[in-house]
Amino acid sequence: MGSAESPLDRRTLVESLRDYVEQIREEGLEGLPASSTVAPGAIAKASAPPQTARTQAVEASKPDIAPGPAVELISKYPGLEKASTLDELREFIGDCTRCKLAPCRTNLVFGVGNPSAQLMFVGEAPGADEDARGEPFVGRAGQLLTDIIERGMGISRSDVYICNVIKCRPPDNRNPEPDEVASCEPFLMRQIDLVRPRAIVGLGTFAVHAILKIKTPISKLRGNWHELRGIRMMPTFHPAYLLRNPGDKRLVWADIQEVMKYLGMPIPRRGGSSS
Ligand code: SF4
Repeated sequence: MGSAESPLDRRTLVESLRDYVEQIREEGLEGLPASSTVAPGAIAKASAPPQTARTQAVEASKPDIAPGPAVELISKYPGLEKASTLDELREFIGDCTRCKLAPCRTNLVFGVGNPSAQLMFVGEAPGADEDARGEPFVGRAGQLLTDIIERGMGISRSDVYICNVIKCRPPDNRNPEPDEVASCEPFLMRQIDLVRPRAIVGLGTFAVHAILKIKTPISKLRGNWHELRGIRMMPTFHPAYLLRNPGDKRLVWADIQEVMKYLGMPIPRRGGSSS
């Protein structure tokens, strides 16, 4: 004699199971996807242990790392996504005339550093020194950034990758305009995709606002992790701002220390360049 299960029994069983799953989820049992209360794009500033391949894979699958609006920007230039190395990307950009900054430049400032860097610094746009040399962050502000990297973090400038949102110098160092950002930003996004660093440091108000698409003051953004293309980004003050406001070097050093902790780097006992 078979014991036929009625649809009612089955429904009761399913409901019981659902209640049980909800209960253990609320209790935070590992292995179940917790319902996220984190805003899309934001990453909590919780202490992050050095990543293993497994934790990296888990982090990449986190539902709160939503693709940002910049994903669509890649399709602005057909063929851009086919550039599979930084050299190919530079070749793709060529002698660019895609925005009105082209006639203003002496050199297009693409980016420098380790093409497989774990850490990437992204600034605003080239200044006069950078335009003259074709390299980002080489003036006084650039020297301060180098000090932060080499004296503060204890690594070589060539160990990281450094670039800007905008590749050509705006006249009289004015802020880049929205149409110029829209034209140039796909190149930055492809650079990020190709370097695929573990962390990005966004330098200064303009760069951070341009890439995060928000207008929150940098003083409120700094010190907290954000997300860009699935990668953690730490906003902080621009080195040029620090030249005018040296008292805030300690804040930048605090932000850099957060990045170092996340990357599993030893923190020097003395604050390097910020002292
Ligand atoms: S700023 Fe960017 S988009 Fe404009 S001309 Fe230079 S490389 Fe091209």
